[in-house]
Amino acid sequence: MGLRRGAATDRGRMREGNEDSYLAAGPLAAVADGMGGHRAGEVASATAMDQLSTLRDGGPWKDDRAAGEALKRAVAEANRRIRELAAGDKALEGMGTTLTALLEDGDSVHLAHVGDSRAYLLRHGELSGLTEDHTLVQELVRQGRLRPEDAERHPQRSIITRALGVDSDVEIDTATYKIVPGDRLLLCTDGLSGVVDHTRIRNVLLRTPDPQQAADKLVALANEAGGPDNITVIVLDAEGVTTAAEPTGDLAAEDGEAGPGSDNDPDDAMVTGLQRVGPGAGRRARGEPGRAGRPRRRRVRRVLTVLLVVAALAGIVVAGRALVFSRYWVGFHGDRVAVFRGVPGEVAGIGFSRLVADTEVTRAQVPPARASDLEAGVAAKDRADAFRIARCAPAVYTGCPADGAAPTTTTVGVTTTAGPSTTTAPPTTTPAG
Ligand code: MG
Repeated sequence: MGLRRGAATDRGRMREGNEDSYLAAGPLAAVADGMGGHRAGEVASATAMDQLSTLRDGGPWKDDRAAGEALKRAVAEANRRIRELAAGDKALEGMGTTLTALLEDGDSVHLAHVGDSRAYLLRHGELSGLTEDHTLVQELVRQGRLRPEDAERHPQRSIITRALGVDSDVEIDTATYKIVPGDRLLLCTDGLSGVVDHTRIRNVLLRTPDPQQAADKLVALANEAGGPDNITVIVLDAEGVTTAAEPTGDLAAEDGEAGPGSDNDPDDAMVTGLQRVGPGAGRRARGEPGRAGRPRRRRVRRVLTVLLVVAALAGIVVAGRALVFSRYWVGFHGDRVAVFRGVPGEVAGIGFSRLVADTEVTRAQVPPARASDLEAGVAAKDRADAFRIARCAPAVYTGCPADGAAPTTTTVGVTTTAGPSTTTAPPTTTPAG
C-alpha cells in the first residue's frame, strides 16, 4: 500500500546520551530502547536495527505467514547477535533492548514486539494500542492486582520483563493487521508513551497531517513534559491519510484542552462538540434574511424559544446537580485522605464537592506517585469503594482485597519471580528515569 512516514529521535532533557535507535526504510519501521551501562544500550538497540535491516529487500513474501515468520526470525537473530556481542566484550555485558518492529507487505503490517516500546493504530479518530507492554506493572494489571490507571504513572513502570539480549530463548509477540487507506500507525519508545498521555498523543496525530511534523511535535511534547527519557517516534500513514477531517467528535469530552477557543488551532472547531450539535445550523438560521410579512409571529416564536431554553437549562442544572452529588471521590482534606461527594476540581471558580469524612490515613503515609493522583482526586464507584480507596492509599498499588482488611504494601521485588508468566530470566531494569 505504501506508507508515508516521519521519524524523530531525541536524547530528551535528562539523559546524557541517546540509547534509542530507530529504522525507517523500505517496508520496515522499528524502534528500540536500549539499556545497559555506558554506551552498551546504544550498541544493543543499534544491533537490533542492523539485523532487522537485512529484511529490507527480503520480499515479496509468499503470504502473510511467510512475512510474519521472516520478521520473527530476524528479531530472534537480533537477540542472538546482541547476546554474542555482550559475551565478547566486558563493557557490553548485560546490555539489552526493547524492540517494536513493523514489516509492511501489501495491505498487511506485521508486528514483532518485545519490551515496553509501543505500536498504536489511529483509525477513524480512535487511537488503539497494538502491543502489550512486557512490564511488571502490566503483569500486575493482568493479574487484577493493579488498576490500569495506576499503572500509567506507577514509579516502577519501566521495569520490563522481556528484552532482547537477556535470554537465549526470547519470547516474541507477533501480530498481523490489515490496514486501509487513512490509517495512521505510531511506533514509539516509552520516552513518549510514558510521558505524554494517550489523549494528547491522539490529538497531535489527528491534527497534524504531515507525518514528519507529527513525529516532531510528539517529541517536542515529551520534552515539554520534562523529557525524562530518550524519545523516539515513527509515524506511518497508509496512503490517503485523513486526520482532523473525520474525528469521532468525542474529543472535547476527553481532553480539557480541546474545548472550543482553547487555542488557535483551526481544527478545533471540527473536532469539538460543536460538530455534534450540528455545525453551522444556528449560524445559518441567524444569517437568513428576515421575512417582513410576519414580524409578530416571529417575535412570539422567539419569546417561546427563549422560555424553552431557560426551562431546559434549569432542568439541566437541577438534574446535573443531583447527578454530580451522587458521585464519590477520594482526595486530600488538609493532612488527611478524605472521602468527598461530587466531583473534584472547580468549574468557573465553583466547586461541586462536599466532604463526607476524613479517614485515618495521613498524607505522609501515601507514596508520592499515589499522592499526585489523590491531589487531583480519584473517582470511586460508590461510597464503599471510596472508603476502600482511601484505606488503601498507603499501598503502592492495590493489595487491598477485602473490605475492612488492613492495607498491605507489596514490594515489587517480591512479585518479580512469583508470576508464572514472567520469563525465566530476571527482569531487566532500565536506568532510573
Ligand atoms: Mg526508554
